[in-house]
Amino acid sequence: MEINNFKAYCDQFDRAATELGLDENLAALLKYPDRELSVELPLIREDGSLKVFRGYRIQHNDARGPCKGGLRFHPQVDIDEVRALSALMTFKTALVNIPFGGAKGGIHIDPTELTSRELEQLTRTFVRAISPIIGVHTDIPAPDMNTNAQIMAWIMDEYSQTHGYSPGIVTGKPISLGGSKGREEATGVGVSIALREAAKCRNIPLEGASVVIQGYGNVGSWAARTLHSYGCRIIAVSDASGGIFNPNGIDIPELQLHLKNSGSIHNSSLAEPIDNDSLLCLECDFLIPAALGGVIHKMNAECLNCKMVIEGANGPTTPTADEVLWRKNIPVIPDILANAGGVIVSYYEWVQNLQRHYWEEEEISTKMEKKLVDSFYEMSALAHSKKELSYRTAAFMISINRVASAVQMRGRTT
Ligand code: GLU
Repeated sequence: MEINNFKAYCDQFDRAATELGLDENLAALLKYPDRELSVELPLIREDGSLKVFRGYRIQHNDARGPCKGGLRFHPQVDIDEVRALSALMTFKTALVNIPFGGAKGGIHIDPTELTSRELEQLTRTFVRAISPIIGVHTDIPAPDMNTNAQIMAWIMDEYSQTHGYSPGIVTGKPISLGGSKGREEATGVGVSIALREAAKCRNIPLEGASVVIQGYGNVGSWAARTLHSYGCRIIAVSDASGGIFNPNGIDIPELQLHLKNSGSIHNSSLAEPIDNDSLLCLECDFLIPAALGGVIHKMNAECLNCKMVIEGANGPTTPTADEVLWRKNIPVIPDILANAGGVIVSYYEWVQNLQRHYWEEEEISTKMEKKLVDSFYEMSALAHSKKELSYRTAAFMISINRVASAVQMRGRTT
């Protein structure tokens, strides 16, 4: 199902801007990206052949601080997707009130088709191509789909070769190179914290609550591990090739072991296979889409059978699906709150890099949790203050206001 992510984001933005009564020109200024860079990336493959890839870095807004956001390596990456994701970063950093703007980057590629050396080469070429617009105080990349700490290390190394030792150019680095304790698990842990607070609001006991997670990458697997430790029952998880289901709850530590040994979540005695479409429609307390955007859409929203959706992925619910879920009284905890744990810890990583002074894990996790919980209640207070206001629109209203005020105070509208 083809979804235009940028159109979906525009719809979300427009609803909040209308609710705020935002001036039309100011709204246009805040809605569209400040700067878009599209780059050609030649790669000489190991067999000597030439292959050319397309990459992007889009800076949406920097009024509240340097642009911040991940780098995605995926065949679905195109300019509209990166535009939408860059905007979501602006409103995510504003919502959780960290001094950053928003950006996103990506390469249109299936990284499994490259060897590790080719991937390193391509990453370094990409860093050189976008180096005119990134910087420790201008734009700081991070991991996203199919990128990891190793790729961040190559970025840090490539940039540092021309700018001197610059750990603050990128976050999500290995700890040995200036990464932060707690960064790897931060997004999944943050999703679990958002779910925990949402459960409190709806009086759903966490102990034994049933959870379905679509996607078992960094976000989904850390959410599964954390929620399992909270006493939730993870009844189904999936990856791109399909899902697994056990109504009594999957033994997540055992699944992790199986994944480590076999390289896959499938083919174990822990659960039965289930296809990805049926997985989304399972009866459960919480559904966590933690993979691609646009997976809950008008064709399947009606079949959802959960009490709440917690958005681990960016942009998993289309505006039409949002309307269906609203009508079905299924609240959605939006991406810009639910998956903000990652960028919050990225912020602490950057601060540690600037200070050249490193903190203990407990300090980082306590600070992250407080930021996320405070932002959750700010969002829910606004959402509950008015009838017909979703969590998403409330979250956008708070963050649009913050960005608007920074833009205005900096004199960009006069
Ligand atoms: N890619 C993550 C996100 O979408 C993290 C971004 C960051 O840490 O800068 O929030």
